[in-house]
Order: sequence, then C-alpha cells, then structure tokens
Amino acid sequence: MNVLEVRGLKVAYGQILAVKGIDLIVRERERVALIGANGAGKTTTLKALAGMIPPASGEIRYLGKPVTGKPSFELVREGLALVPEGRQVFGKLTVEENLELGAYARSDGPAIHQDLERVYGLFPRLKERRRQTAGTLSGGEQQMLAIGRALMSRPKLLLLDEPSMGLAPLMVQRIFEVVREISREGVTLLLVEQNARLALELSDRGYVMESGLVTLAGPAAELLGNPQVRHAYLGE
Ligand code: ATP
Repeated sequence: MNVLEVRGLKVAYGQILAVKGIDLIVRERERVALIGANGAGKTTTLKALAGMIPPASGEIRYLGKPVTGKPSFELVREGLALVPEGRQVFGKLTVEENLELGAYARSDGPAIHQDLERVYGLFPRLKERRRQTAGTLSGGEQQMLAIGRALMSRPKLLLLDEPSMGLAPLMVQRIFEVVREISREGVTLLLVEQNARLALELSDRGYVMESGLVTLAGPAAELLGNPQVRHAYLGE
C-alpha cells in the first residue's frame, strides 16, 4: 500500500514557485530519501506534506485518502509527523515537557507514559536530562529530542528534515542508528538530507530535486551508483 502519493505538487511563496510540480510515492514501511542542493525545494515539499504550507496545486493522498490542504494538527492526529529542520525544540521547557507536547493530540494517558519510556529507551541521554531545559542541550541532544517529540505522536509516517545538520560525525551516526531502529519498528520514513550518501545508504529509494523539480528517482543503490549523482551530490 502507498502511505503517501503526491501528484503534480506545486508550492509557492507569494509569486515565487519553490516546488514546481512533483510526483512522489512512499510505500508502507519504506525508507525514502529526498536529496538535492540548497534551495532545491526539499524543505518546502516536506512542509507542504506535513500541512504547514497549503499547496498551490496538486494532490496529496495519505493512507489512500486525499489530505491536500489539511492542517498539520489534523495530520499529526492521523499519524503523519514532521521533525523540522533546525530542531525547533522549546528551549525554556524541560526535555520531558517537550516530549509531552509531542503527544498533545492524544488522550490515551497510560499509552503516552509507555511511549515516553520508549523514547527514553531509544535515547537514554534524554532520560538523564529529562528535568533539564531543552535550551541547555547540545545540538545532537536537541535533534534527539525533536525526533523523540515526533515519536510521541505515534507516527505511521515520519518526515525528517536534515537530521544530520550541524552535528559531529559520531552524533550523526548515533541519530541514524536510532532512525534505522524506528524504521525497524514499522514507521515509514521520508528523509530530507544534505548528506546524500548517508541518506541513500539508509534508504530503499530516493528522489533527487533540482530547482523545484524531481530530476531523478530510483532505488537508492542505483542512485548511489549513478555518475551524475556521484558527481553532483557525493563529491566524486
Ligand atoms: P535547504 O537545504 O537550504 O533547506 P531546500 O531544498 O530545502 O534547501 P527550500 O528551503 O525548500 O529548499 O527552498 C526552496 C526555495 O524557496 C528557495 O529558492 C528558497 O529561497 C525559497 N524559500 C524558502 N522559504 C521561503 C520563504 N519563507 N519565503 C520565500 N521564499 C522561500
């Protein structure tokens, strides 16, 4: 089954078309990478999929139903969550308060507590720092928190925007291990990354975006071997 089906998606900021008509499919339990240069339209695409910017045109179907233009709070309730670029945790709230906010759309108290423990199991560092304010965490810990917060909504589809951004290699490795674990537990993933190699190595399939359009798509292993991709995005 297709978890996500996107047809002819266009997204504009005023007069400027940032996403110019893209098609995209994400199947159940797949890991899909969206790569491309700065400004290619990757973040804008994720924001539109997460209901944070209304599309100018096109259709988005989630779990077989049209959701084009649905606001993010409704999509979160239906299991579609975004981990935004730059983390965007609430710096003055504690780690645990940030995580609890991730469950705002839910009313199943005991299960929320279980999920908190699950997040602490994935990220023991967050458990150690549960009473600390999020603003005092390192960049990597804030990324863990942003992912943990999204997991608290029990997503079926998780959109991740640049989880490796600005992090030291060891921390990136740790974050990606957890992303893999989340995928093994059955969550479907759509991942935007500047680090194309890392993203494609993790993924089943990939899409390459350039200037608001998808210019290449295919199995991740094929893209990793594609001379054009190697030259433009893998630094070879
Ligand atoms: P990055 O890796 O830098 O986030 P990206 O591929 O995610 O790049 P977007 O951030 O989606 O690209 O940007 C796509 C285009 O839309 C760019 O030309 C950018 O300048 C423009 N853009 C992004 N956000 C806005 C905004 N809030 N208002 C106007 N234009 C914007």
